[in-house]
Amino acid sequence: MSESRSPEETRGNINSMENIRESHVHHRKYRRVILFPLPLQGHINPMIHLANILYSKGFSITIIHTQFNAPNPSKSPHFTFHAIPDGLLEDEASTADGVILFSVLNSKCVEPFRDSLAKLLLDAMDQEPVACLITDAVWHFTHAVAEGFKISTIAMRTTSITSFLAFASFPLLRERGYFPIQDSRLEESVQELSPLKVKDLPVIKTRCPATLHQLFEKISNQARACSGLIWNSFEEIERDALSKLGQVFPVPIFHIGPFHKYFPASSSSLLTQDQSCISWLDTQTPNSVLYVSFGSIAAVNETEFLEIAWGLLHSNQPFLWVVRPGLVPGSEWSESLPDGFLEMVGKRGYIVKWAPQQEVLAHPATGGFWTHNGWNSTLESICEGVPMICQPFFGDQRVNARYVSDVWKIGTHLEYNKLERREIERAIKALMVETKGQEMRQRIVSLKEKVNLCLSHGGSSYHSLESLTNYIMSF
Ligand code: UDP
Repeated sequence: MSESRSPEETRGNINSMENIRESHVHHRKYRRVILFPLPLQGHINPMIHLANILYSKGFSITIIHTQFNAPNPSKSPHFTFHAIPDGLLEDEASTADGVILFSVLNSKCVEPFRDSLAKLLLDAMDQEPVACLITDAVWHFTHAVAEGFKISTIAMRTTSITSFLAFASFPLLRERGYFPIQDSRLEESVQELSPLKVKDLPVIKTRCPATLHQLFEKISNQARACSGLIWNSFEEIERDALSKLGQVFPVPIFHIGPFHKYFPASSSSLLTQDQSCISWLDTQTPNSVLYVSFGSIAAVNETEFLEIAWGLLHSNQPFLWVVRPGLVPGSEWSESLPDGFLEMVGKRGYIVKWAPQQEVLAHPATGGFWTHNGWNSTLESICEGVPMICQPFFGDQRVNARYVSDVWKIGTHLEYNKLERREIERAIKALMVETKGQEMRQRIVSLKEKVNLCLSHGGSSYHSLESLTNYIMSF
């Protein structure tokens, strides 16, 4: 395993940002923006990308972060980092029940965050004035704290707009009897959220379902009270959701995504990305490799893990598989693989603990992505024109998967209760060798072209970013 990016490369990326920044700095009169990411990989990545985008626009950047899953400051030496004591006990610092983790973080971090903000504002009296706070929307106390200091707050949501609207309609759906979800209704359509079915509702398995609903309510209430909402999404893909969002959340909305395409990949990875898989990809033919990764949190049991392994083997397609430590809870790494599996796979497969995902997706050999459809992974796949096998586990992943397969038609759906070797083999062949897969590839390649357009001069995200920077300057 090797470090993903050398200090020289990091410096090179920062230099390219510095060049763009140069032309804005004078204009921005050295205003500072404070950002507060939620400490999970899928939230840290977009927040650090956003910080880089704002830095290139001439703003100075301070990141307040928890000690749990702290980002590595040496990868972003152009930012100032402030750690706050999150007070998490050893058994609380776990993503096994995300709802409990979010709720504990939201209660334990109020005071440390307030103290940190007070200190930063005091320090700022001798430096650049603070323009605003940009908070991850899941931190639902931050607007109230910042308001106490007369600082404006903009919330950044790391999901798609469509799935946020689905979360926001939980109170209505509860009134209409959808919750608790009954197994007998899973295939029913949810008229209020067409084309979602009951099984696509973004619920998260938790030992406290009431806490889940309270959490969403607090997140929605804060989103309505904030000075604006930032989305890692773009108009061309979520036009209908955007217009609905404006009605439900009547605050300024900035859709400036996909964030990661603004600059060459700057890594905010919490795990070391194994670069050796890029050399392996170099040996494979174009569009032949299936990349398999379920993100930083999703877990499978040992039986499912074995079905995945057999499905990959029987598909006869080359594959690059991310087996994250903890993918099978309780196991160290890939020790649950069937005896002789690696010998049978030979050079046709490659397994890593964690990959440089954006580089993998951009590699010409990568022809498909079997994904859990986290929003970052979904966007990264769209940006590189790689069609998907959708295997959502929980929460917004289910909404993203339904849109990928049924609305944008750039992926095929593998039902979450059908993690079975023959179904897997069928889905892999459909994507990688059949006409159906070819059609999906053509559609996602044309979506990729829309991404390039929305980010270029005069495009929808370009325009929205201009509005955002002017808006921040107006505070
Ligand atoms: N990722 C990575 N290496 C891997 C798997 C994932 O760098 O082997 C990154 C991926 O590029 C994405 C993030 O981790 O930016 C995962 O975010 P996502 O929203 O897709 O899923 P989550 O981890 O939040 O479930």
